[in-house]
Order: sequence, then structure tokens, then C-alpha cells
Amino acid sequence: MTTSTTQAHRIWLFDLDNTLHDASPHIFPHINRSMTDYLMRNLGLDESAANALRIDYWHRYGATLLGLMRHHGTDPDHFLHHTHQFPQLKQMLVFQRALAARLRMLPGRKVVFSNAPRAYANAVLAGIGLDRSFEAVFGIEQLGLQPKPQTRAFRHVLHALRVPAHRCVLVEDTLPNLRAAKALGMGTVWINRGSTHPACVDVKLRSILDLRRATHLVR
Ligand SMILES: [Mg+2]
Repeated sequence: MTTSTTQAHRIWLFDLDNTLHDASPHIFPHINRSMTDYLMRNLGLDESAANALRIDYWHRYGATLLGLMRHHGTDPDHFLHHTHQFPQLKQMLVFQRALAARLRMLPGRKVVFSNAPRAYANAVLAGIGLDRSFEAVFGIEQLGLQPKPQTRAFRHVLHALRVPAHRCVLVEDTLPNLRAAKALGMGTVWINRGSTHPACVDVKLRSILDLRRATHLVR
């Protein structure tokens, strides 16, 4: 197999929030507020009880939605729609303008693998100029509502792409997701500015713009 053929067989799985853009300054606070409002309206809770329940379900199930479905019969489409409304999305996005060009230079297939709803993922990608950078976008609906780091989330993506795990690299900011990817045999790239380097991480990058340093990762 030639080098170029090997490179073309790589599959890059990109997380979205805090990997391809910085969701911490504006987007995550807005989503958290929207979820707390949703719990207040739909479960009749006051603000502090709604906020506590949102966080409790997130810790216990990996997503607030899963706790709501299990304990309150919440309709997932209704919840995802009402908690991901961004009238001011453009002004809230924090991202690196050079990323689209860097991704074009990266050999291999590229997809987005996010725990967020797909409509939101597509809106963010359009807003940061990456709407033509990926062959597919997997949101929580395409994962059977099973978020990373659940193995079933990864199986949904591998099955849809018809590729083995060992040809994939997960690029992520969230360590438990990388640990799950490594256990399945994937390469792993951690976007992180800290000084630790856990065993489940193949390559740690301070910035997504340095991605070419990771191109040796996939067989
Ligand atoms: Mg993330």
C-alpha cells in the first residue's frame, strides 16, 4: 500500500463543541440556561431545583436528556429543539478562521461526531465556515440518542461509515470519550492546554490548527 493510499484511508472523527470551535464563552452558558428554563417550564420547578436536576441527570446519564426521557417521558425532539435556539448564533461563535484551510490540507475522510443535535451542529458549522469540510455530520439523533462515551454511539458511526475502528482517529476535548475510542482501537487526539498526557491519548494538541502533527496516527 502506498503512503498516499494509506492516508486516503484515514477517517477523522471530529467532536464539535470545544474542538472545532470554543463553546465555553457564550454557547454552553446559553444551552445550560435554556435547559434550566425547559425544566422549570415543563416540570414546574423553581430555578435552583431545575438547575440542580439538570446537573444531576447530566452526571448520572451523560446527558440531561436521557434522565428526562427515563424519569419524565420527555420527547427528545421537543427537548432538543427548545434547548438549542440561537437567535444570535453568529455573534456567539468563537473560532479559528484558518481552520477550514487546514482541514482541506489534511488527507483522509472527515466527519463530525457530536453529542449535540444535528440541526445545531449544522448551524454552527455554517457559522464557522466549515459547512463543506465534512462528508457527514453525526448528531445525537444519528447515535440512537446514545451519547459518547457510550460504546453504542461509536458503533452507530462505524456502522454507518462501514469502516473498522482502527482506521479512525477521534479528535476531542473530552477525555472519557477518548478513553472509549482508544478501547475500541481508534487513534486519539486530545485538544487540551494542560500539562498532563493520559495513556489513552496518542497526540495532545494545544490547538486544533496543529492537526497535521497527528497525521501519522492511523494505519
Ligand atoms: Mg467537546
